Amino acid sequence: MDALGRIIDYLRISVTDRCNERCLYCMPERYKGWAQRSDHMTANEIVQIAHSATTLGFRKFRLTGGEPLLRHDIVDIAKGLWELPGVQTLGISTNGTRLSALAEDLKQAGVRSINVSLDTLDATRYRTITGGDLNQALEGIEAALSVGFEVIKLNCVLMRGVNEEDILPLIDFAAKGGMPLRFIELMPLSRTDALNESNFLSIGEIMRHIQLHGNLLSLPGYQPGHGPARYYEFQPSGAKLGFIGALTNPHFCESCNKLRLTVDGKLRPCLGRHGEIDLLTPLRLGATDSETLLRTAIANKPENHEFSDCYTPWRPMTAIGG
Ligand code: SAM
Ligand code: SF4
Repeated sequence: MDALGRIIDYLRISVTDRCNERCLYCMPERYKGWAQRSDHMTANEIVQIAHSATTLGFRKFRLTGGEPLLRHDIVDIAKGLWELPGVQTLGISTNGTRLSALAEDLKQAGVRSINVSLDTLDATRYRTITGGDLNQALEGIEAALSVGFEVIKLNCVLMRGVNEEDILPLIDFAAKGGMPLRFIELMPLSRTDALNESNFLSIGEIMRHIQLHGNLLSLPGYQPGHGPARYYEFQPSGAKLGFIGALTNPHFCESCNKLRLTVDGKLRPCLGRHGEIDLLTPLRLGATDSETLLRTAIANKPENHEFSDCYTPWRPMTAIGG
């Protein structure tokens, strides 16, 4: 528990800062500041840190990045985490483009939940937003559905003037696949041109837009994951819609339950603040566990983010872990 009484039992781990896509809101163009590969945590180091976290009561783990499925040892990492005593759930966040080849192995390794980014169902717009191939992402989602993970969620980042017209088609798609769909407000997490005020689309605006086409029934007890979304059922299709309004929801941080582990082994108590605690250097110098530093990170978890307070990211989302 942190100083504010929040139970912190969820660790999100960036396993790579590299990606095969270039989303407008995430990846700075011509970004050169990759962590050196030698700075990246190895599979063993990831599992070792996660083990320390489990001894402090962490029960939920998610692998992210960058694109975690680019790591050749991603299945081993998943297996290593799932075998740790105390781990109750293990998820992966992915753009889906490599999921069709890996879904079965990830399921066997213990992965329970898959989040796939999907901002549009239009191939041209998908190419514009991500630089990638929509079909690959759709094939990945199809593979995840047929393998049968406990939860498969879709994530859509909203951008005014870019993907508003995708909202209803995405809702239909999510309803047909029985996948909760989460709409996410743009956050200033990287230095990219897309992160400006004119592109920002609030959750409130989106909900009003959706309500022009049906009802949104609040689902206070529904929680298909461990994130900050508030869920509603869209009637008549029955789609489960989550809304993540980090910038416009004043209570956003009150239920925060997580720490982040950056690709180079630093704990970030808050996504929207710069403070970090280095775990990897002590480990490489011979420390046998990371419990004391994890405790310090929990004790120093800030009350709230600084997104609305001129927060300027100094390294991109991919390194911190989305
Ligand atoms: N590559 C994987 C993916 O795309 O899902 C995992 C990493 S990605 C950084 C994790 C999540 O962060 C994605 O859902 C992505 O849409 C979201 N994200 C990235 N940049 C964002 C931003 N500036 N504002 C809001 N969400 C963002
Ligand atoms: Fe890559 Fe995910 Fe960032 Fe898109 S959101 S650039 S897929 S890490």
